[in-house]
Amino acid sequence: MVKAEGVHKSFGPAHILKGIDLEVSPREVFCLIGPSGSGKSTFLRCINHLEKINAGRLYVDGTLVGYRQSGDKLYELKEREVAAQRRGIGMVFQRFNLFPHMTALENVMEAPVQVKRESKAVARERAQRLLDRVGLGDKTGHYPSQLSGGQQQRVAIARALAMEPKLMLFDEPTSALDPELVGEVLDVMRDLAQDGMTMIVVTHEMGFAREVGDSLVFMDDGVVVESGHPREVLTNPQHERTKSFLSKVL
Ligand code: ADP
Ligand code: MG
Repeated sequence: MVKAEGVHKSFGPAHILKGIDLEVSPREVFCLIGPSGSGKSTFLRCINHLEKINAGRLYVDGTLVGYRQSGDKLYELKEREVAAQRRGIGMVFQRFNLFPHMTALENVMEAPVQVKRESKAVARERAQRLLDRVGLGDKTGHYPSQLSGGQQQRVAIARALAMEPKLMLFDEPTSALDPELVGEVLDVMRDLAQDGMTMIVVTHEMGFAREVGDSLVFMDDGVVVESGHPREVLTNPQHERTKSFLSKVL
């Protein structure tokens, strides 16, 4: 579902991703951990066209991200084509980024109506179903300011799902939440995983990684240091940098 081959990304002189190679299979829950500043968010942003890579190849569902290849040459995709690629990818951020002037239901309906030109009736029906699914069927008329952080994040997940993505990216979805609200968001993510969604999850929740993850990658300073089955990496890390990081977070 996702393949990175020698992916590099710099911001001016700052070399952030230094040759990332990894593969995510369909239906896999792929957890990404690593110290702050190691490039985890940048990597997700490259997958979702929020940043352009400087070298290497990035594929989603077998299709090159942002470019078309013709012979040896790469051509940048047009805006419309990029938009079409992005539609297949849902992203959930640390900050929920809901539209504050819209109800939960309107937030979830927004993209299908505006981007896919779906009828309001169809979008509303799906939004209701998705809010039910994340346990907020009784909060559809609430505005973000009337919801807790955990509830807002669940609306954000429903909103991403409304576009029926084939891949979901989560960037520390529980890091901004009060501890007692973390579980309800992880429960929704676990449910999605059980349903077979392909997910890349940047997280510090090692319990989630261990129980729900199919693979775990430890990234540091723009490179993949270690990867494997979560239980393997968490209980038996091979590299000093992984050991040192885990000793701080576990
Ligand atoms: P992580 O998510 O692992 O904490 P990030 O991918 O957010 O790491 O950031 C990695 C590095 O890239 C940081 O040093 C950050 O300051 C830098 N960086 C991220 N985005 C930009 C940007 N748009 N311009 C310049 N530097 C950036
Ligand atoms: Mg980050």
